Amino acid sequence: MAQAQLTIDLDAIRANWRALAARGTAEAGAVVKANCYGLGADRVAPMLAREGVRRFFVATTEEGASLRHILGAGPEINVFSGHMTGDAALLRDAHLTPMINSIDQMLRHVEALPGHPFGIQLDSGMNRLGMEPAEWSALRDIALAQNPRLVMSHLACADEPDHGMNAFQLRTFREMTDGIEAPRSLAATGGILLGEAYHFDVTRPGIGLYGGLPFAAAQRVVALDIPIIQVRDVTAGESVGYGNAFVARMPMKVATIAAGYADGLIRALAPKTHLWAGDTRCKLLGRISMDLITVDVSAVREMPATLELLGPHQGVDQLADHINSIGYEILTSLGSRYARRYLGG
Ligand SMILES: *Cc1c(COP(=O)(O)O)cnc(C)c1O
Repeated sequence: MAQAQLTIDLDAIRANWRALAARGTAEAGAVVKANCYGLGADRVAPMLAREGVRRFFVATTEEGASLRHILGAGPEINVFSGHMTGDAALLRDAHLTPMINSIDQMLRHVEALPGHPFGIQLDSGMNRLGMEPAEWSALRDIALAQNPRLVMSHLACADEPDHGMNAFQLRTFREMTDGIEAPRSLAATGGILLGEAYHFDVTRPGIGLYGGLPFAAAQRVVALDIPIIQVRDVTAGESVGYGNAFVARMPMKVATIAAGYADGLIRALAPKTHLWAGDTRCKLLGRISMDLITVDVSAVREMPATLELLGPHQGVDQLADHINSIGYEILTSLGSRYARRYLGG
């Protein structure tokens, strides 16, 4: 079978959620946008709900509706993009809680769905989503009178603990919200690690659940094993793959494995990436094709059936390092052609 296998360890996700929740006394929610960072909301989210998560966070109303279908009634589903034009029916039918980002969204919400729950997203300096201080002052009393389910903001530099932006945003968020009754939320994974001053009432871990930095103590969640289709001997002077991008300087053994850029293994991963045959490190050779990658397996004594791209030897952040990327991007790029196997749950 030429199908690579993506193994997702649900027990590790659970352990990571518990570890982050135990960092303080705030209620820990879970961010499950982008299909749980590519790992499968249909399997991951119900496990988290069983574990006791009562607030889930998604990016869009459509994601929220599909999550409601998975989870059923009960847990609160918060939508970061708020109430967009055309969202009313889905928000109502799927019992979603939009995080209102502007006065426009607030007006749209109370007009289309009077009495329907909502939260508020504030901009404390990132300038991406949420109401700025002036907008918030204008709306504050009216919004708070309707008991928002959550008042939240997001940190721009939480993965850099010493960055001055963290303290600045904390101060700004406090100035905007101190004294209100509604529950407050500021911290994603990075913010949780900054300490309890950043936790408020509800935390919003995402990447840490899925085993990525900045949660360095996370348990590893994913493994990706790619079948070897063919192994050949290449003599000195022969080339490998498209564009003759690699030319052998000495005789070598080359394995062709069954995954490529259509599986999220972007071309930029060549040529610096390595794969693993058991404990033997093997260099990727030449260009990455749509469905295939070529690898130097000259040092491998006993040829395994698969090579490891993600696993005990190499995590998502190490893979990301070669291409100036981040674990988040590696995870969310993992394609749909893998056979997905879930451990535990
Ligand atoms: C994605 C996101 C999170 C989760 O962030 P992680 O760094 O993955 O923990 C939390 N809050 C908001 C607003 C987000 O967009």
